[in-house]
Amino acid sequence: MKITRMDPPPMAVSEIFTSIQGESTRAGSPCFFIRLAGCNLDCRYCDTHYARKGAARKMSVAELTRAFRESCLPLVEVTGGEPLMQAGTPALLRSLIRCGQLLLETNGSLNRNLAPSGAVVIMDIKTPASGEHERMDWRNIRRLKAHDEVKFVIADRHDYLWAVETLRRHDIDRRCAAVLFSPVAGTLPSSRLAGWIMSDRLPVRLNLQWHRVIWPQRRRGV
Ligand code: SF4
Repeated sequence: MKITRMDPPPMAVSEIFTSIQGESTRAGSPCFFIRLAGCNLDCRYCDTHYARKGAARKMSVAELTRAFRESCLPLVEVTGGEPLMQAGTPALLRSLIRCGQLLLETNGSLNRNLAPSGAVVIMDIKTPASGEHERMDWRNIRRLKAHDEVKFVIADRHDYLWAVETLRRHDIDRRCAAVLFSPVAGTLPSSRLAGWIMSDRLPVRLNLQWHRVIWPQRRRGV
């Protein structure tokens, strides 16, 4: 393919696949996924090492957009790794959003406004157990759109109390469409996190990874 000077830079892609959306308020919906390679963080519980450090192939924005169109699905998610690290990501997002509903997962350390305002951003706020909570860009709280969602991945009681305090201090549930509390798989039982949420009557959703329930043996492409 001939690349012209006006073309956005090619993307480093870890994998593309179709699956059931496992998280967020869209959980259960068929979705086309683009997992971009590379990440600027190193969370202790990271379950996508292959996207952080593994092999990537180069694909153009046009090729990725065409692959989404050819999937005949209405929903596309760009995830990682950390998608906002790549220079071509804003152009990719602008192209995808013309073809369907766009979700972007980001780790909260980079500017949310690199994504178009119409994209539904699912933004992490990293808790202390991740080892990366000091890397958050807290200005992103003010940048949230009403349709965005915020996710806390919680490993233990200390993480939970930190998340509750952060939620209340920044009024996060009033600034976005949903706040998701997700247990670290294999570390915090979902029933325990559910009990804490109920006990405190929190305005959050328990966020479970449905793809891991449906395909417990799969490690990639979910
Ligand atoms: S931000 Fe996501 S991909 Fe990056 S290290 Fe943390 S869990 Fe892994």
